[in-house]
Amino acid sequence: MSVHSFGAAIDINTKFADYWIWSGGKPGKVPNYANKFPMAIIDVFERHGFIWGGRWYHYDTMHFEYRPELIAIAKAGGVSACP
Ligand SMILES: [Zn+2]
Repeated sequence: MSVHSFGAAIDINTKFADYWIWSGGKPGKVPNYANKFPMAIIDVFERHGFIWGGRWYHYDTMHFEYRPELIAIAKAGGVSACP
């Protein structure tokens, strides 16, 4: 089941979204994309415990998912996907 079905994910403004399958991607062959969302919006979500689908190999730029435990694990390990 999708994380959306548990109320822990939200998709915003699909009009400006890039999704790897919509872009013609196939498993093992994912086209590049140019982000259309303001980084200020992404920064706010990430600051409050959400991960952003725009950072995934199989990107989904409209997708934000509440995963504070992943951010805490990354910080404890001294790494960050959120520069
Ligand atoms: Zn989503």
